[in-house]
Formats: sequence, C-alpha cells, structure tokens
Amino acid sequence: MNRSIKNSGGHIASAIIFPMLIVVMTSVATIFGLMSWSARLSDEAAEESQHKLLAGAVQLTQNYISKKQTGVVIWDEAFHAVNDPVPNRNWIRNNMMNWLSRNHGFTRSVLVDSDFEVASVYAHDENSDWMSPKVLDELRPAIAKVRARYITSFKKTPSGLFRFMPQNGDTHLSIAETGVVPLTGEPFMFTAAAVVPQIQSVFAERQPPAVLVSMIPLRGQKLAKISDMSRLDGFVLANEQTDRSGVGTYQLESPRGENIGVIAWQASRPGTQMLERINPFLAVAAFLIAAVVIAVTLFTRQMTKRLARSEAKAVHAASHDALSGLPNRSSFQALLTSALETGEQNGTNTAVVYIDLDHFKDINDTLGHSAGDRVIVAVANRLKQVLPRNGIVSRISGDEFAMVISKCENDEWLEYILDQVQDEIARPVKVGSREIFASLSMGAAIAPKDGKNPDELLRKADIALYDAKANGRNRRSFFEPTMEHHVQSKDEMSRELRLALRNDQLDLAYQPQSDTDAKKIVSVEALARWTKEDGTVVPPSQFIPVAEETGLINDLGIWVLNKACARAHDWPGVVVSVNVSPNQFKHPRFVEKVMAILAANDLPPQRLEIEVTESVFAGRDDSVLNALRRLKGLGVKVALDDFGSGYSSLSYLRRFPFDTLKIDRDFVSDMNGNPEAEAILVSIIQLGKALGMTIVAEGIETIDQIRFLQVHDCHRMQGYFISRPLTSVALSKFLKDFHNENSEDLAGSFDARPRAAKG
Ligand code: C2E
Ligand code: CA
Ligand code: CA
Repeated sequence: MNRSIKNSGGHIASAIIFPMLIVVMTSVATIFGLMSWSARLSDEAAEESQHKLLAGAVQLTQNYISKKQTGVVIWDEAFHAVNDPVPNRNWIRNNMMNWLSRNHGFTRSVLVDSDFEVASVYAHDENSDWMSPKVLDELRPAIAKVRARYITSFKKTPSGLFRFMPQNGDTHLSIAETGVVPLTGEPFMFTAAAVVPQIQSVFAERQPPAVLVSMIPLRGQKLAKISDMSRLDGFVLANEQTDRSGVGTYQLESPRGENIGVIAWQASRPGTQMLERINPFLAVAAFLIAAVVIAVTLFTRQMTKRLARSEAKAVHAASHDALSGLPNRSSFQALLTSALETGEQNGTNTAVVYIDLDHFKDINDTLGHSAGDRVIVAVANRLKQVLPRNGIVSRISGDEFAMVISKCENDEWLEYILDQVQDEIARPVKVGSREIFASLSMGAAIAPKDGKNPDELLRKADIALYDAKANGRNRRSFFEPTMEHHVQSKDEMSRELRLALRNDQLDLAYQPQSDTDAKKIVSVEALARWTKEDGTVVPPSQFIPVAEETGLINDLGIWVLNKACARAHDWPGVVVSVNVSPNQFKHPRFVEKVMAILAANDLPPQRLEIEVTESVFAGRDDSVLNALRRLKGLGVKVALDDFGSGYSSLSYLRRFPFDTLKIDRDFVSDMNGNPEAEAILVSIIQLGKALGMTIVAEGIETIDQIRFLQVHDCHRMQGYFISRPLTSVALSKFLKDFHNENSEDLAGSFDARPRAAKG
C-alpha cells in the first residue's frame, strides 16, 4: 500500500510538479536574460554616445587649435615671407612658429613650401630632430589635402583669371586640415593650413600654397580639456587597445590610418548599474519565487500523498471492518471464491467456518457497547492468532465471524484447529477491571464434500452453526445433511406459532411459589405452553426466541397477560407472575394495554407481578424503565428475573426499585456443597433484603436447598420440589390440597416431601 502511495505521489509529482518547476524556472531565467540583455543594450547605447561625445570633443579641440593657428597663416606678411624667392626663415620662425608656441602651446611646427619641400622646422626646445621623412610621410596626406583644397578654392572667372572662392564662404575651413600624428612615440594633435594673404585677390594662375603644420602634444592641459569637454570619468591615454569591460575606448589614428593610441575612460554603464541596483531585488524575488515553488511543490506532494493515502484508506475501509480491521462481508465473499478455486485446482479440501459469539447481545446490552466493542476486537485478534497459514478470517456482522481454512487435511485436523479457537476464546477478556468470559459457537462446511460454490458452502456452514447453537452453544458442528431439516423447521415454527396464536392453541402453565416455610402459596408464575396439533410439545426456550425475532412476542405477551389475569380469579389471594420480554416494553402503548387488561378482568394491580430480566437496562433510552415506573406506580409488582445469570450488576438494583428479586436457577443448583456459591447466594439474599426486596430462589429441587434457604431467611421458593408448572385445573387442586395439608399439620416439616413434584 505504501509503495503504491509513493508511486502515485511520484506520478502526480512528475505530471504536475516538474512541468511547473520547468515553467517557473524558465520564466525566471527569461526575466533575468531579458533584463541583462536590455542592460547590455543600454550599456552599448551609452558607450556609443560617450564615444560620439569624445569624438566631438576631439574634433572641437582640433578645430580650436586650427582657429588659433589662423592668426599666423592668414596674414599678408607671412604670405610674402613664405613665398619670397628667398624666404625669410628668421622672420617665419619668430613671428609664426615661435609665436604659436608661446601663445598657444604648439611646441612643434614645420613649414612645407609650395614645392612640397620642408622649408623650416621648429621645436620649442630647439631640438629639431623630431622631423624625419617618416613624420613628413605621416603628414603628407593632410598637407596634400590642404594644398588641393586651397587650389580648388580658386574658380575660373569669365575673364580667364582665377578668383579665390572658399567652400561655404569659410576661408579657414577651405585651407586647414587637422588630425593626430605620432611623434617620438607620442600622439600630437596637429593643424595644417595654407599660408594665405588676408585679402584674397585674383590670380592669373593657380599656385599651390606653402603649408604650415603646427602640433601640440596630446597630454596635460589639452587632454584635460578634452576630458572636461566630454565629461568622461577615468580619462587616460593608453598605447594599447583594451577589451576590458567597463572601459570605453577611442582610437586615435594618423592620417595614414595608423593606430597611434587610444583614449580610454571609465565607461558609464547605466544598464549594468540598473542591473546592479535591481539585482538584489531580483535575487530576493527569485528566492521568494523559488521558496513559493518549493512550498507549493512540497504542499502538493504532501496533498497528493495524503490523497493517495486516504484513497488507499477508503479502499481498505470499503473492504474491511472498521472495528476489528478484518476483511468485511463483501470482501470475504471474494476471498472465499478465490480460496475455493485454488483448492479445486490443487485438489485440496477447503473449510468454511461460521463463528457466532454466544450471548453477545447480553454483553452489549448489559455492559454497554464499548465493552462489546472490546470483546469483538479481542476475539478478532485471537482468531487471527490461531488461524493457520493461508487462512482467512473476516467479520461478517455484529457478532459473526467467518473463517476459510485452506488445505484442510481431514476432519480431525479441522477439529484440532477449532479446539484451539475455542481455547483461545475461553480466556477472559479484560474490560477495565472486569473480566468478560466469551464463548462461541461454530459451524463448518467443507468443500468439495459439502458443496463447491461459495453460497452453498456458506449456507451449509450457517446451518451447522445453527445446530451448534441449538445444542447448547459454546460448541461446534460440522455440517450434516440431516441438519437442513432443522433449519426449515425454524421458519416453519414461526409460521405455525402465528397460526397457533390466532387459533388459540397456546396454553399457560402455572408454577407455584411458596414461602420458605412452605406453608403458603403466595404466587404463581404463568409460563407459556405450546402443544402442536400432532401432539408435539414445543418448549418455550425454542418458541419464545422465535417469537422475539419475528415480533410475534407482542401479541403472544398480551395473550399471556390476558389469560393469566382472567384465571387469577380462580386463586384468590395469589399473585400471578407474568414474564414480559423487553421487546414488549418497546411498544409505545404497553402500559395502557396492561391497564386495560387489568380493568377488563377486574383484577386489582396488586395481584399482578411482572418479571423482567436484566436486559431491560440495555440501550440508552429510559423508555422501558419509565414504563416499569408507571406500572409500579399503578400498584403492579415488578420482579427482576434470573438474577445472577447474565452480567448482573448490582448497580442495576439501584436503578429501579424492584419488588422482587428472583435468584437464577443455575445459582441455586450450583449451591450444593460449594461454599463459594453459598457465600454469594447468602450475600445476594442479604443485599436484596437490605434493599427491601422480596427474595425468591428459583429452581429448588432438593430438601437441602430448602434447608439452606430457611437458615438464611430467603423469603420465597419456586421449583420442582414445590411443584412443577401445572395446568390451571391442576393448580386449583394443588392449592386446595396444599392449604388443607398445611392446616392439618401446622408444624409440618419438609421431611415428608416432595409431594407435588408429580403434578
Ligand atoms: P423463567 O422465567 O426463568 O421461567 C422458569 C423456568 O424454569 C420455566 O421453564 C420452569 O419450568 C423452569 N423451572 C421451574 N422450576 C424448576 C426446577 O426446579 N428445575 C428446573 N430445571 N427448571 C425449573 P419454561 O417454562 O420452559 O420457561 C423457560 C423460559 O421461557 C422462562 O424462564 C421464560 O424466560 C420464558 N417464558 C416462558 N413463558 C413466557 C412468557 O409467557 N413470556 C415470556 N416473555 N417468556 C416466557
Ligand atoms: Ca420467569
Ligand atoms: Ca427465572
């Protein structure tokens, strides 16, 4: 069962939980992925704009230095100095190059004349070694551009002369070019511009200009300025390109496209920053989601397990009896069927045994249902213990069990098993401080001898059980074909009894009760008698239970009451005792019926006594006791019959004030010579007397019993020794004889008796 719970739990887990886990995990991963993707996008966008910003700043700086240079290149004097057939180098140095160095920090300058020859080289520290063919080569494209741009700015006029017409009207733009070049391993920002007159005149020919290239090292203030303008953090000039993340780079290239170095900065990465800010929350959210998922998973698993367990329980409950835990009737049928099939295949005998707890109803009725339950559980456990291997035991109904015993070797073997069952059950069951003695009756049928199909075997086992019960209980019977006849007779009996009642074929016998001195008959007990038309006598021990089972007891009881009350007039002064079964009290108008009968027969209630057994205390509702109270209130006497036979509780004696206590016949018969039985008897007599009851000892059969009872002052006696139950006619005669005899011999002793036992 446990395994199947796990299996179905695992099944549900894989069917629901795993897909759910995957969905949740994928969603979380997707969210994280999307977040970091969008962070990267925004980082990239930010870097691009930073890059543009820097490019702008570099360009602006270059424009700026270019503008600064304008002061010396757009200058008539310079133009002449440069283009003189013999250029005035000193003048150029001082007024152009040196001036630029001092005022604007152009630490290097070079003048290239219109023939593209280096005309003059300047360095602010007089160290002119910096100029080399390689440097010139680097600068060449820029210089060439300037020259070309300058020349092409001259447009031919209709007169055939060339006029200077700068692009966009901006002279400076038309004659200058900027960029970055490496000098002695260091990047320098340069501006190259044509040296031109202040006022552009008309020329007959287009002449290439001299070009002044001025340079500022890209470091210190210049770099700081670019950094300032671009507002980038951690701004550095590096030699090498770097791929480090979080670092923005700007490649410096020479006009020839050579790498000179990089400007690197601490890139601001808003996406990453946002992620960093948001990540703790995301982590917490993911954690919470994970926690919820885990909780839901665990809860679901728990639930599915519980479901599976309760399903298994329900399946078990449907096939098992809740109290004893044994298979119930419906599953027993299936178990029996398969056991019989196996038996048939193997060619072995299979026994079916019906078991019925004797007098279980009494235990339930007198000790309460919880005690009854304890007995059932104890019996169930003991049956399980003695059951041979492969055997089945099941609880069929309230106090009925059934067993299947496979591979039943022979009758002796089965008898041995059933003996063990009986021995086991004979041990008392402890309920609180009380020891309950249970016994059981068993009926067995054996396949294939007694039948092959389950129903037939069960029916026959039931018949055998009935036989065991009918033969005095606490025994077992094996099915025999003759038994079937008896069962039929039980059904027949109830039908016949109904007819007998309707046709007035029942009769009453009366058994006298005398005082202990046997001097006076104080009352007579009316006992139902049934002699069938064919003359067979059916004892009340057989037909009363049938009447109780079929509900016929109500009509029968009323008939007995009527008859006994009618006859009572024949025996003035004698009380008539009538047995009333508890079922009769359940009739809602029973008391009214008794009153009507008394009235109809003109009998004072004091002449009627009602005998009830302890089972009136059964059940929770007090309706029976209330009816008894009402009867007692009318004056009808109430006797507690068979005291000491069942589970007599002395507490019953307090629950209802009985007029009479009838000590059970078995008790009296146990008495002979048994000191313990005598002691109990004496104490019952004393107790009853203390409670103000009239004590009657039943079943008096010997003179010794009478003597004993006389010694102990028992009030009354009833039994064969006084008289057997008599017909009404015989009773009238008996009463007459009895009183005559006693009046003749007032001091008469019992030694002369028995005298009426033959009645
Ligand atoms: P009970 O009420 O205990 O009646 C006494 C039984 O003990 C009677 O058996 C009686 O014949 C028998 N008895 C009397 N003295 C002696 C004796 O000295 N020795 C022995 N061995 N037996 C003695 P009976 O008439 O067969 O009645 C059996 C039971 O049937 C009664 O037991 C009573 O419980 C029930 N019963 C009889 N008639 C009626 C009736 O009209 N209504 C109801 N509800 N039950 C009845
Ligand atoms: Ca009785
Ligand atoms: Ca009795």
